Order: sequence, then structure tokens, then C-alpha cells
Amino acid sequence: MYVPEINRYDTMQYRRSGRSGIQLPLISLGLWHNFGGVDNFENSRAMLHRAFDLGITHFDLANNYGPPPGSAEENFGRILAADLAAYRDELIISTKAGYLMWPGPYGEWGSRKYIIASCDQSLKRMGVEYFDLFYSHRPDPNTPLEETLAALDTLVKQGKALYAGVSSYTGAQFSDSVRIAQQHDWAPITIHQPYYNMLARTIEWDLLPQTERFGAGVIAFAPLASGLLTDKFLNGEVSPTSRAATIWPRQWVAEHSVEERRRILSGLNDIAKQRGQSLAQMAIAWSLRNPAVTSALIGASSVAQLEDNLATVRNLKFSPEELEAIDSDAVEAGINLWKKSSDS
Ligand code: NDP
Repeated sequence: MYVPEINRYDTMQYRRSGRSGIQLPLISLGLWHNFGGVDNFENSRAMLHRAFDLGITHFDLANNYGPPPGSAEENFGRILAADLAAYRDELIISTKAGYLMWPGPYGEWGSRKYIIASCDQSLKRMGVEYFDLFYSHRPDPNTPLEETLAALDTLVKQGKALYAGVSSYTGAQFSDSVRIAQQHDWAPITIHQPYYNMLARTIEWDLLPQTERFGAGVIAFAPLASGLLTDKFLNGEVSPTSRAATIWPRQWVAEHSVEERRRILSGLNDIAKQRGQSLAQMAIAWSLRNPAVTSALIGASSVAQLEDNLATVRNLKFSPEELEAIDSDAVEAGINLWKKSSDS
């Protein structure tokens, strides 16, 4: 029987999500990969136990996580019921709707029909009465924003979600969402979940000024660029079938030669070493250097990775020289730092 560490809240730090009442751990765990029906269930279970023991109170899911889609929610629900049910009130469980879940015109995007049906399915799969956070997973170019936001509000009013959030919305789409929700007195957008790491910095100028202005939190997903910012790719070789080459960081991978990638990643690794950290630890700490970022949302495939990543919280400070060196590496990496250069 799982008994959580009694001192689980001693090391982790928690940050408030914008101006809301909710606090998130500096590092949250996402279940996109390594928790699906095709994965080793006992390994997934061990990671969830260890995460909770180390003060991770926030677990992030989505309807489509698996594979197969839905199976990460089912597995999480099984582990929750067996081991963590007594601690439900210590947990922030999130899920999302936006990507393809079932055939036909109502199985993806942002219609009221899809969002409400998807939330009901997710509640059943996870065996919970409510989600702490429910997200619109991606902006829908064809559904009026009002309809998607009204659906989120309905979920909150029905008690199926405590807080509403959006993911991968641009700064402009986020600002529009906040204003529309305010005008209608709908559930506020408490948090935004964007892609953010040392190789992808768009939110610094496009989104963060907006989330700060409106008092919303930010949970940065893939702070390790889906594994690129770890010691796995230091030689620059990225298999074309790997997650790093096919999903979120694919543009960066495609735009750089093996030699450029080797130079940039090993340059960052050298800075990490001087800080006494692994590249993964420095990447997570870096994503949290701005207090406007509430939490870094990581993935892991083993307890060892999780422990390595959690050790980040021992050194979150950066000297101006370290930040400068990381920015120089970013410039070499072809990352647009125009905000920084226009400030100077
Ligand atoms: P990360 O950038 O944290 O990458 C995680 C991967 O990096 C792991 O699966 C593992 O790869 C590798 N890794 C992690 N720690 C280490 C380590 N210490 N040493 C070596 N390798 C390591 O994030 P993800 O891309 O997994 O995304 C994290 C979460 O963000 C998701 O689970 C999901 O909750 C959320 N997300 C949200 C999206 C959205 O649209 N809202 C989109 C994408 C993610 P390996 O498995 O190969 O070992």
C-alpha cells in the first residue's frame, strides 16, 4: 500500500497562479507520454508516487494523452483510486479538450458540443467528480471564441471544473478571451499553458506582458523541448522519428544542422556544468527565472529522470553573466530576442 512521504512539502516551492488563489508547485508533471495504455503501468505508477512524495501536487492531462487516446486519463484514474484517493484535496488535476478524440465534426476543436462532451468523458475515465483546471487545448479558428469560453464557464458553473484555462493561444487570443469572459461575467481565465523553453521564446514578448497585465498564471509546457535540452542530444544527432524532431521543437531541429545543434546544445551544457547542474536542471530553472511563470510542466519516463529534474529547485538563481551567456547561445541558435535588443 502506498503511503506518501510525511515531509513531502518540505522542499518544493509553490507559486501563485497570477492573482488567483491557486498555487502550483514550481515543477508540475505532465502525462502526455509514458502514462498510456502502451506504457509500463508500474513505471507510471512509481513516477506518480515519487512525484507526490517530492511535493508535486499538480498533474496535467488531456483527453487525447496515451496512446491510445484516453488511456493516460484511465491509468491516472486507476492510480488515483488505488493510491491517492485519500489525498484528492491535496491535488490539482487538470485536463484539456481540443485535439481529435472521436470521428465526425464534433470530435475536436472548440465547439460547445465537443468541450462539454469531452469533459464528461474525461470525468468518467478518471473517475473524479471534478477537475481542478479545465483547458481549451488549442484555439479554434472556426468557432467563435465566445462559444468556447461560454462552454468553459458552463463547466465551472456545473462544478465540473474549478478553474478555466487556455493553451497555445496567442497573446492577442488570450487578451480577447480575458476581456470576453470579463464582459459576460464568465469564469476567468486563471492560467495559460504555452510552449516555452530556451529554444522557443516567443511568449516573452507575445504573451507574458498580457498574462501579467490580466493577472493570469502561466504554466510552461515542455521546458526541456521534449528532451532536446537534456544530455541525450549533445552530439546534435536527432533521429527524424524522435519526439524532438516531429512535434513541438521540430522547427528548431529542422532549421539547424547537426553541427549547429551540437555547438548550441553543448554550449548550453557547458553553462549548466559551471552552475553545477545538468542541462535539464538548468533548462527547468531558466524557464522559472521570471516570476510570471508559475510552474514548469515537465515530462519524464523514469523515476530517475523525475528525481534529477526535481533537484532543480536547489539552484534557481542566475547571475546576469549566466543569463547573458544563455542569450548569446540563443542568438547563435537563431532565436529572435528582439525584445531584449530593443530594450538595450
Ligand atoms: P519535456 O520538455 O519536459 O520533455 C520530457 C522528456 O524529456 C521526457 O519524456 C524524457 O524523454 C526527457 N527527459 C526528461 N527528464 C530528463 C532527464 N533528467 N534526463 C534525460 N532526459 C530527460 O516535456 P514534454 O514534451 O514531455 O511535455 C511535458 C508536458 O507538457 C506534457 O506531459 C503535457 O502535460 C504538457 N504538454 C502540453 C501541450 C499542450 O498543447 N498544452 C503540448 C505538449 C506538452 P524520454 O521519454 O524519451 O525519456
